[in-house]
Amino acid sequence: MNNSNQLVCTFVSKKKLDTNSVVNFFSKIQNTNHFEILSSRALDLYCDPFNKINEKKLRKFCLKKKIDICIQKIKFRKKKLFFSDMDATIIHNETLDDLVKIAGIKIDIEKTTKLAMEGKIGLRETLKLRVNYLKGKNISLISKVLKNIKFRDGASVLVKTLNRNDYHSVLITGGFQPISTYVAKYLGFKKHVSNKFVTKNGKFTGDYIPITGHKNSKLFYLNKVCNEMKISKIKDVISIGDGSNDLKMLKASGLGIGFMAHKIIQENIKNQIRFTDLRTVLFYLGFKEKEFIY
Ligand SMILES: [Mg+2]
Repeated sequence: MNNSNQLVCTFVSKKKLDTNSVVNFFSKIQNTNHFEILSSRALDLYCDPFNKINEKKLRKFCLKKKIDICIQKIKFRKKKLFFSDMDATIIHNETLDDLVKIAGIKIDIEKTTKLAMEGKIGLRETLKLRVNYLKGKNISLISKVLKNIKFRDGASVLVKTLNRNDYHSVLITGGFQPISTYVAKYLGFKKHVSNKFVTKNGKFTGDYIPITGHKNSKLFYLNKVCNEMKISKIKDVISIGDGSNDLKMLKASGLGIGFMAHKIIQENIKNQIRFTDLRTVLFYLGFKEKEFIY
């Protein structure tokens, strides 16, 4: 295992992993020189780099078997910084849509958000539009959104385990404070970055203060944190997200993971979580299940 290009392929299934069928299929396309059982449902196979055709075959096999797979270089596996999207990633909700609905505004907001997350319409424009619907509504409506927040399975153990292992965890969202503040605190993120509503006399003005003035706020912020921490994006960063506004951040990270993602992320990011939950991120990073902090 001296080859610095050595790969590790991680396989994760929802229930017990059929390791025999994985190893059998794998042996047809590549020799494996080492394996590691991470849990009854997660396995690492180490190997030399393989060609694109074989990688495609392997990914197709996993898709058919409903197994999540991550392929990465061993030498960059350990990371230092975790960047996570919020809406539809670390929680089930799209919180701005929830807020607009709770405010009683009757528009097909989910459809607009879906198109924006697929990169088919401008994100910034739709965000502006959605915030504008709230103009004149009472900010106390936010407390109702907080009550309806549903965390994704594995969210808490993921953040706790990373924190305990000296990762710097950042929640970055096109969503809004104080919703992101609540989510970040509840899960234990060390930092959170989000948009802010402009309010006056307890009411929304219909305006907001964006994370940054930049088009790709998440990537901009990732660069900023990496500079501050003096770390490398390719070596040290793992990030996760589901929508078009996460794409640049995921692409720039050493390990960018699509989570239950929109098509644009599925088509442009190789490593995905489709069938399991957020604990799979820990397996991708090489943690064994017995090391998870609950
Ligand atoms: Mg999202």
